[in-house]
Amino acid sequence: MEQQEPPPTSRRDEPRVSAPPRATEGTALYVHLPFCAAKCHYCDFFSVPDEGQDIDGMIAAILREAEVRAPARPRTLFLGGGTPSLLSAGQLTTLLDGLQEITGWRGSAAEVSAECNPESLDLDKARCLLDLGVPRISIGFQSLDDETLKLFGRVHTATESFRAYESARTAGIEHVNVDLIYAIPGQTADEWSADLGRVLDLRPDHLSAYNLTFEEDTRFKRWLDRGRLEAAEEEVELEMFHATRELASSSGLVAYEISNHARPNEQCSHNLNYWRNGEYVGIGPGAVSKVEHTRSGNPRSISPYLRRIQGHGHATEWSETPGEVARVAECWWLGLRLQGGVDPAEVARTAGASDAAIEVSVTLATRLVGDGLLERSEARYTLSEQGLPLADAVAREFLQRLPQGVD
Ligand code: SF4
Repeated sequence: MEQQEPPPTSRRDEPRVSAPPRATEGTALYVHLPFCAAKCHYCDFFSVPDEGQDIDGMIAAILREAEVRAPARPRTLFLGGGTPSLLSAGQLTTLLDGLQEITGWRGSAAEVSAECNPESLDLDKARCLLDLGVPRISIGFQSLDDETLKLFGRVHTATESFRAYESARTAGIEHVNVDLIYAIPGQTADEWSADLGRVLDLRPDHLSAYNLTFEEDTRFKRWLDRGRLEAAEEEVELEMFHATRELASSSGLVAYEISNHARPNEQCSHNLNYWRNGEYVGIGPGAVSKVEHTRSGNPRSISPYLRRIQGHGHATEWSETPGEVARVAECWWLGLRLQGGVDPAEVARTAGASDAAIEVSVTLATRLVGDGLLERSEARYTLSEQGLPLADAVAREFLQRLPQGVD
C-alpha cells in the first residue's frame, strides 16, 4: 500500500511555507516517487504518467529535500508512490546511494521496502533492488482478470504479475507482499475466492487486500456517478471480506490489520508505525510527514514541488498541529484497524494527552462496546466480529464525535 493518508480532519488547502521540525534520529522515512506507467482509473494517490517526465531531475530534488529533512539513521525506509520499480537501475542506484550518504539507512533500517508493478519488475530489476539493500517488495497484482486490469487502466496482464513474482523469488527477495483489490463491479464472491486462492498458492509472506473504493476526483467515481459502473452489493462485499480472512488464515497469513495479512514476523513495520500514529518523515511530491505532533505535507504536483525545493530546500506546503482531543481521536481512528486494537494508556503517551481527554475517548469506546461494535479485553479495545467489517465507520466515530464531546 502507498503512504497512509492523513486523517480527513487535515486541512491540506492552507498553503504555508515554513520549515517543519527536524525529526530525531531513527524516525521512519518514506520516499514518494510520483511516476507510473499510466494512471489507474481508481487511484487517488498523487502520481502522474512518466512519459516526458524528468525522472533524474526528480531524484535530484528528492535528494536535496532529504539533505534538509530526512532523519539520520531511519529505522524503516519505504519507497512508495507511484511506481518506484519504474526507475532504471542507474536511477535506483543514484537514489538509494544518495539516501545512504545523507541518512546512513543501510546501517540502521530494520526494514526496507519498495513498491513494484509487474510491468517494471523483471529479474534484473529485482536483483538490482536486492543488491542495493531492498529485501522487501510489494507487487501490485490488483486482479487476476485481464479484462478487469484493462478496466482499472493498468498496463500489465495477470501473466506478467505471476512472472514478476517469480522474478522476485528467483532474485532471492525473501519478503514479498502481493496487493489485490476485491469487490470489483460484476465480481462474484466465488471468483474472488478462486483468484485469491491462486495468489495464496504462491506463498507470499504478506497480503494486502483492499475493497475497491470510489475516491473523489478519480475516473471510477465519475463513472459510478454516471451509472457506467455499479458498486458491489454490501452483502457480496461482506462475503468477500470474510472469505479473505478465512483463506488467508488457512494459508498461514494472519490479519494483523483490517486489510493486511502476514506470516509471523512479516508484518510491515513501516505501516505499523502509521497505524500506531508514530512519527515519520515523507519526502517527495505529495508526501506527508508527522513529527512531534505536527503533520505537514508537500504539494501534490510536480512543478510546485520542484520550485519549492529549488527555493527553500524543502517543499512543505501545509502544516497543522492538532489539539489533544484530535490527537487522541486519531490514535483510536488508526489503532482500531489493528488486530491488537487500542490501549488508552498507549494513546495517552502517543498523543501526549491529559487524563480528561483520554477519559472522554474511553466513554465513547465503552458505548461502542455496549453497541456490540468493540470488545474490551483487559486494557485493550478491539473491533468485535460485528465491528470488523464496519471498521472505517466505527473508527470515524472517534474523529467525528470526540471533538464535539460525548454525551
Ligand atoms: S500504479 Fe499504483 S500509484 Fe500508480 S496510478 Fe496505479 S494505483 Fe496509483
